[in-house]
Amino acid sequence: MQTGFATRPDLVVGATDPDDVVAAVSYAAGAGLPIGVQATGHGLPGAFEGGVLINTRRMDTVRVDPDARTVTVGAGARWGQVVEAAAPHGLAPLNGTAPGVGVVGYTLGGGLGILGREFGYAADHVRSVDVVTADGARRHVTADDDPELFWGLLGGGPHLGVVTGLETGLVPVARLYGGALTFDGTAVDPAAVLRGYEEWTRTLPDELTSSLAALVYPDLPHLPPHLKGRYLLLIRVAFTGSAAEGERLVAPLRELGPTVSDTLHEMPYTESPAIHGDPDFPHAFYGDNAILGHLDTAAAAEILALAGPRAASMHILQFNHLGGALAGPARNAVPYREAGWLVRLLSPLVDGVDVADLRAVHAAAFGHVAPQTLGRSLNFVFGGADRPEGLYDPETRKRLAALKATYDPANLFRRNYSLG
Ligand SMILES: Cc1cc2nc3c(=O)[nH]c(=O)nc-3n(C[C@H](O)[C@H](O)[C@H](O)COP(=O)(O)OP(=O)(O)OC[C@H]3O[C@@H](n4cnc5c(N)ncnc54)[C@H](O)[C@@H]3O)c2cc1C
Repeated sequence: MQTGFATRPDLVVGATDPDDVVAAVSYAAGAGLPIGVQATGHGLPGAFEGGVLINTRRMDTVRVDPDARTVTVGAGARWGQVVEAAAPHGLAPLNGTAPGVGVVGYTLGGGLGILGREFGYAADHVRSVDVVTADGARRHVTADDDPELFWGLLGGGPHLGVVTGLETGLVPVARLYGGALTFDGTAVDPAAVLRGYEEWTRTLPDELTSSLAALVYPDLPHLPPHLKGRYLLLIRVAFTGSAAEGERLVAPLRELGPTVSDTLHEMPYTESPAIHGDPDFPHAFYGDNAILGHLDTAAAAEILALAGPRAASMHILQFNHLGGALAGPARNAVPYREAGWLVRLLSPLVDGVDVADLRAVHAAAFGHVAPQTLGRSLNFVFGGADRPEGLYDPETRKRLAALKATYDPANLFRRNYSLG
């Protein structure tokens, strides 16, 4: 949960079912109050004052239909619940790295999962969306009944209403070959590891999704000695093929330098959150990203240097390899399908660090990859609600603006990233 931005609504509604959501939306509409929505608070767009906040965390039902290979969730469900409910049927959802992230918030923002290159964005698998629009109407939206609203909800949902639940597809994945290779950033040349990683990604089948992260772990007492205070580079891998084929594919990565740990192994899908080991405690962070056509490793090395041990405060830098099924034809408002890479910076907001300083570092960092930048991913902006530039390409933004004019003409859902 994000703790970096103060939210002081006039009224918080702890919704337990869609009727509560209708009542809250109708009240806010009548009083002309802006509406915010929150399930987990991980993706809080920024600080706000006043209005109505609808908290959906109690609406956390999860129902798997193993024959149809679908799951129907309430707006408060988290990915960890779905992973556990689907696993006994040999199925998996298109979840991301952390089990605590909300299914709906993640999916409305696209949803770049650990199996992304094989199966595409989570949004691409949605069968139906239940939403309460600003007029207080409950709508069951499918591609057949209302293709334009369905298109817009998946990628632009937070602008258009309060989603009370959705039905989405599951994939037949029960196990994985995956884990992380960790290099000591002071014992290898980080830029050479990045170069080697980028070259390696050119050889991969779509069944392998991976990323490279670089960070200096803080010198905190609760961290284990192999992490505490160290500058580390982590290459994370998830591969749905056999362990033997996985071993063969990752062999070139193991040649990039000595590793301080190598956790690559065959695992049940339920163990997959360990691949990234994202923190599950509330903390304050600021984050931004750039979606890139291709990765220029010389430019990317400049970001590595900027965000590494010489930085004035901590930054977690991550390069996600995209392509594969993520590059498929756009069926919804998730933009930039032609992208090859995503580069993300996540910067803890700890004592003595302020957002203005972090923004300056981020601007310098993303400036290095400006020539390759297509835009920004909604899911990896943390606390930048005042800066909507690039979240959609002009054509997608125009279509979303037309939907917004139809379904939320008074802009009630403005506790959010605007459409720019
Ligand atoms: C530890 C961590 C790991 C992550 N890993 C990934 C990853 O692997 N892949 C990825 O794509 N993203 C990832 N994210 C980003 C995450 O998908 C977004 O932050 C997402 O918005 C979180 O949704 P939430 O419901 O958990 O958070 P919330 O803060 O509850 O919601 C986030 C935003 O989503 C919208 N929203 C939520 N519920 C509704 C609703 N019912 N109706 C309408 N709008 C709604 C609102 O605008 C809200 O402000 C990660 C985030 C964290 C903190």
